[in-house]
Amino acid sequence: MPELPEVETIVRDLRPFLVGRRIGRVTLSHDDVLRGVTRRRLVRRLTGSTILAVTRRAKHAVLEMEKARLIVQPGMTGSLMVHRRALTPDEAKYAVLRAELGRGQELVYRDVRRLGTLLLLDAKAWTRYTRAIGPEPLDDDFTVEQFVSGLGRSRQAIKKVIMDQRHLAGVGNIYANEALFSAGIDPSKPALLLTPEDHIKLHAEIRRILNAAIASNGTTFRDYRRGTGDTGSFQLELQVYGREGEPCRVCGTRLSGTHAIDGRTTVFCHRCQH
Ligand SMILES: [Zn+2]
Repeated sequence: MPELPEVETIVRDLRPFLVGRRIGRVTLSHDDVLRGVTRRRLVRRLTGSTILAVTRRAKHAVLEMEKARLIVQPGMTGSLMVHRRALTPDEAKYAVLRAELGRGQELVYRDVRRLGTLLLLDAKAWTRYTRAIGPEPLDDDFTVEQFVSGLGRSRQAIKKVIMDQRHLAGVGNIYANEALFSAGIDPSKPALLLTPEDHIKLHAEIRRILNAAIASNGTTFRDYRRGTGDTGSFQLELQVYGREGEPCRVCGTRLSGTHAIDGRTTVFCHRCQH
């Protein structure tokens, strides 16, 4: 699933093409991506609406209109793009949501396996939604103290805790692996055993890595595409993710892999992250 840097890249790519535009005809190929909204209501609410802002919350793109927000949570095979020409048959085949923007342009959410979700929230539902998500790690006012209070006194592995969207917004498997490596912290260490020094390092490394990944337009491991259709390039800078069995770039030790922490692939250096 695209994480914070990928969705931030998509949002930045699309913003100039969407803000101020009025949505014309809307079509939806499948209902199974909708959460809490019917096809009829979604189409009716989007049609004729003007897009006021395009933002990001956690791993989700948010299109703000006068009366509602469309939330797009791209799945592993999801992409959000503005097409300035007719879609190819292959593009049209997997286009789930299509919204005409005029001047021959079209906003398209494409999702081969339809693992993503679309929500339509009014102001009240949006408040509930955003309150349930933890702080944004790249906000200027995201302090170490705020980070620590978010971790709580959890006995769960620190990797699992920083990926929990209720504690921290936007970090998924790729950037959790990378941040814990750079901070020199064992991913299986219970959160409550982290030292004050660990907190400072991890807070700084999460921010540094997310910013670096945005500067590289995200990580294309398989399917992720930017809002322009191009790939990201942060995969070239990954230290551990996807490198199980390869030598650690810092000490040369063979990198270990495990599924024991959260069912996802965790890759780490047992020497550097001790
Ligand atoms: Zn190492």
